[in-house]
Amino acid sequence: MDHGTNMKHQDHQGHDHSVHISDFKIRFIISTILTIPILILSETIQIWLGFELTFPFQKETVFIIATLVYFYGGWPFLKGMVSEIKKKQPGMMTLIAMAISVAFFYSAATVFFISGSDFFWELGTLIDVMLLGHWVEAKSIMGASRALEELVKIMPTTAHLIENGGVIDVPVSELEIGDVVLIRPGEKIPSDGAVVDGNSYVNEAFLTGESKPVSKSTGNDVIGGSINAEGFLHVQIEKTGEETYLFQVIKLVREAQMSKSRTQDLANRAAALLFYVAIIAGVITYSVWFAIGFPDFALERTVTVLVIACPHALGLAIPLVVALSTSITAKSGVLIRDRTGFENARKINAIVFDKTGTLTEGNFGVTDVISLISKEELLRLTAALEINSEHIIAKSIVEYSENEGVKIEPTTDFTVLPGQGVHGKVNGKSVYVGSPNLLKQLKIKTNDSKIMQLQEQGKTVVFIIIENQLAGAIALSDQIREDSKSAIKKLKEKGIRTYMLTGDAKEVAEWVAKELEIDDYFAEVLPHEKADKILSLKEQGYKVAMVGDGINDAPALVTADVGIAIGAGTDVAIESADVILVKNNPDDVLKLLELSQKTYSKMVQNLWWAAGYNIVAIPLAAGILASLGFVINPAIGAILMSLSTVIVALNSQTLRKHDIKVKVVTHKETSSSETVKAIT
Ligand code: ADP
Ligand code: MG
Repeated sequence: MDHGTNMKHQDHQGHDHSVHISDFKIRFIISTILTIPILILSETIQIWLGFELTFPFQKETVFIIATLVYFYGGWPFLKGMVSEIKKKQPGMMTLIAMAISVAFFYSAATVFFISGSDFFWELGTLIDVMLLGHWVEAKSIMGASRALEELVKIMPTTAHLIENGGVIDVPVSELEIGDVVLIRPGEKIPSDGAVVDGNSYVNEAFLTGESKPVSKSTGNDVIGGSINAEGFLHVQIEKTGEETYLFQVIKLVREAQMSKSRTQDLANRAAALLFYVAIIAGVITYSVWFAIGFPDFALERTVTVLVIACPHALGLAIPLVVALSTSITAKSGVLIRDRTGFENARKINAIVFDKTGTLTEGNFGVTDVISLISKEELLRLTAALEINSEHIIAKSIVEYSENEGVKIEPTTDFTVLPGQGVHGKVNGKSVYVGSPNLLKQLKIKTNDSKIMQLQEQGKTVVFIIIENQLAGAIALSDQIREDSKSAIKKLKEKGIRTYMLTGDAKEVAEWVAKELEIDDYFAEVLPHEKADKILSLKEQGYKVAMVGDGINDAPALVTADVGIAIGAGTDVAIESADVILVKNNPDDVLKLLELSQKTYSKMVQNLWWAAGYNIVAIPLAAGILASLGFVINPAIGAILMSLSTVIVALNSQTLRKHDIKVKVVTHKETSSSETVKAIT
């Protein structure tokens, strides 16, 4: 895995912090040591501290040391300026380089050519503080990308492979699909797979944020990286390497960290703006002080203005928050695919839920079969078609039919009618299975009172049409998710309008809507109509989020301001969404809103700490209060600027309050005799 690309934090004028971290440190230490004699030999400092120390060629000596500090300590900034100018993007490095160059060359001139006082001690301390600032910055960026590394660390490295009745330890990278591994109590599951033996509880907190361990026994799926509790488990590996869930999450987090949002653009624009403001303020400051007869003071003020305006912390303000919030949200079961979508979530005031699979479990069970032909034939033709469908309804119909002893026959010309049903040919016969809407489109009428009755109980009824004749109907019942009700309630309390959209019958929709006390619902809608509904809400001025799971939700997910997919949903839905809820829990929408809000306010706070203080600082640096005796010297300017960087870094870290603590369980010592007991 290539961590290098993460640590390279792209928007900060393109310099690579992982490389510069030790470089800045060494340059800082050496420059600081060199600055000490400059300070001691400076006239101003001597006056301040009340001592005198002079010797021949003193000025020249100070000049030589200062030259070393300028070129050695100032080198990263001078180099940075050259590359910024080459890219035609003058920025922070150019500002710093300009400030130290102006101070250096002017001071050098006072030693040899002109009269006036030098700025050598200011120059030295300025460079020291700048180097320190960059060192701190590089370190905090590293810290933030470490949040991602924490995810990587979750991955265990060795597995206990069960082979020929014995157990051998192998590296996880050597596991193959189909291998069976032993997981002892307290150990991590090495890779994604299914339990084939044993009973235990598994802690999946790192991916769902749910701290309660989940019960696992034969047939259950487990995810690589989750932690086994008391029991032992035999797991058959189903996915390895990049295919595993955790790897996918890491990939997603990395992509999201690198993807840019509008807020980030704002930071970059602010940095560019600040550059020009600094130049203009510098020119004005110099001209004014020079014009009224203070050339030395003019220069000192100009250097201070350039330094204080350096948009140093701006480079950090957003990326630090992004790096932290993406991994924190990932660990609480909210995966961000698109940052702009995630940042928009805080503005949401209308949420549209899909019904089946989103508000409901999508755990269908067939309850009634109404057959107008022989039941055996009805199920046979239906199951033949449904075995090809990914839909949860299809899966339950197939399961039911197989339990009834139906043999699955081959299908030809199979097509999915998203949000409506399926069509195909079985034994040369044209068969449709689908919604009331599909029935309408095929111009088939039914007013079966039994069917109406079933729908009014909230049951989903699908119709089977053979050779354009209604052949029967199958009723399925689903359960409303436990958390749907509280989610809707809490959203309404926040003043957010809630809607439900479904391809299912009106009666079913009405029943679910009533149970959940949803504000409004639209039933029997086709995929493009779902998108249209979203659009019309947007046109009414709502900021709309859509939560869905199915193929038929994809257009709506893309249309909404924020598309949210249920983790167990179809790939199409997940690909269309901005955010994925791992736990399939509608309640997590609230978590999303909260995290989005927190992240955004952190970003705004950081922008103020990074740039806003300039509103006061630049005029002060320019010497606007000089008549009152209040001036900031260049080194204090540099300290203020660096302080802003440190504040931004610390402020971002407070986001960690929302972080899920992943307990690192040490492997329990299991003696070999226990092992034998465990696997036999
Ligand atoms: P929702 O919008 O509530 O998630 P679905 O994705 O379940 O709706 O699709 C809407 C309707 O389309 C279902 O209620 C069902 O009647 C019909 N339907 C979709 N796919 C199938 C299928 N494979 N077999 C039978 N009916 C289907
Ligand atoms: Mg659905």
